[in-house]
Amino acid sequence: MTDQTANEMESTSSMAHNGLVISQTNETLPEGVHLPIYMDNHATTPMDPRVLEAMLPYFGKIFGNAASRNHQFGWEAEQAVDLAREQVAKLIGCTPKEIIFTSGATESNNLAIKGIAEMYREKGNHIITQVTEHKAVLDTCKKLEKQGYEVTYLPVETDGLVSVEKLKAAITDKTILVTIMYANNEIGVIQPIAEIGKLCHEKGILFHTDAVQAVGKIPVNVQTDNIDVLSMTAHKIYGPKGVGMLYVRRRNPRVQITEQINGGGHERGMRSGTLNVPGIVGLGKACEIAGDEMVAETARLTELRDYLKAKFENVLDYIHVNGNMDHHLPGNLNMSFVHVEGESLLMGINDIAVSSGSACTSATLEPSYVLKALGLGDDVAHSSIRFGLGRFNNKAEVDYVSDKVITVVQHLREMSPLYEMVKEGIDLSKIEWAAH
Ligand SMILES: *Cc1c(COP(=O)(O)O)cnc(C)c1O
Repeated sequence: MTDQTANEMESTSSMAHNGLVISQTNETLPEGVHLPIYMDNHATTPMDPRVLEAMLPYFGKIFGNAASRNHQFGWEAEQAVDLAREQVAKLIGCTPKEIIFTSGATESNNLAIKGIAEMYREKGNHIITQVTEHKAVLDTCKKLEKQGYEVTYLPVETDGLVSVEKLKAAITDKTILVTIMYANNEIGVIQPIAEIGKLCHEKGILFHTDAVQAVGKIPVNVQTDNIDVLSMTAHKIYGPKGVGMLYVRRRNPRVQITEQINGGGHERGMRSGTLNVPGIVGLGKACEIAGDEMVAETARLTELRDYLKAKFENVLDYIHVNGNMDHHLPGNLNMSFVHVEGESLLMGINDIAVSSGSACTSATLEPSYVLKALGLGDDVAHSSIRFGLGRFNNKAEVDYVSDKVITVVQHLREMSPLYEMVKEGIDLSKIEWAAH
């Protein structure tokens, strides 16, 4: 079966949900569109073929342990790791010695926050973070609270940005660490990192940032941004899953971290365990490509994102963007389609991989805590979609996705008595619904 016929077969599927039936019978897909379309690049990214190519030898002939100091096999592995260390360091403006390889950003965040909390316990027990952090930061902070640490969870403004003034006011003489993410993975807002870092340095407080969504996408420099500790991961920048790193500043100030995994003393004693050489090679290559292509990629993705946004805004009413668009990641668009039932919307576009404003917890569909932190109601959060554009998306896909979403939103609204009432000017919040 050729790609083309496979696509045609997939596109003749019909979906039924809540009475909604959308058929795409015999639709011929435009050039550049293959279903399903992946537009969820904040969750993970496909590997860049150039990254895969760089990694392959290290699954085969070059299999040595980078810690084997007395033979050729070890040296070759070590050389590859050294090169990767340089590639990563170059992208964020640090020295290779300041890079600690880990299994990914979840581990990096754990190591940074727990490692600093433990090391600086004598100095104080207070940590400041904010409510829209990734769970890898929030859950780590919660764990520390159980161990006697105090954590301040700053609110965000309605545009998703954290207030530096509120941060300043939260600092006490017990504060040892501030951890604020560089860019948010749901709403794409970029926090005032350099300003926060400067404040922390003035106060003698360490500053960690979860920079997973920022590194490789926008310029990040640990010197000009005043960052002491930084987490990142390969699989969000077209590298492999299961490998990441933690930057730990060595000068002005020299940051110390208590190791969380004990063993052979790898990575300057901060993270024991035989290095994942192929993964690290992939991380390095992904960083190199991201650095080389950042300017062009940012321009291309910003244009595609703005085009997607404009298509919605030209046709649909009762929609709005979430997150400050002036401080925003190029490939992110988080949009609420008000007066549409979220689950039906997602069912209607199930040949497109995007994320919704709902998080599947054990049994129920919970609204996203990030969107709720902006002040969105549960309904609006559920009817929100995160479009995550990436390196391998094209304009034809953006057209397909926008047309499809528009069709489904219009269709759902046509069937919605609530939307009819809104159109007639009735304020839904003032209605007294009969109990039943
Ligand atoms: C994906 C992500 C993480 C987790 O990274 P892993 O390498 O998958 O553990 C942490 N923080 C943010 C902001 C992310 O988007």
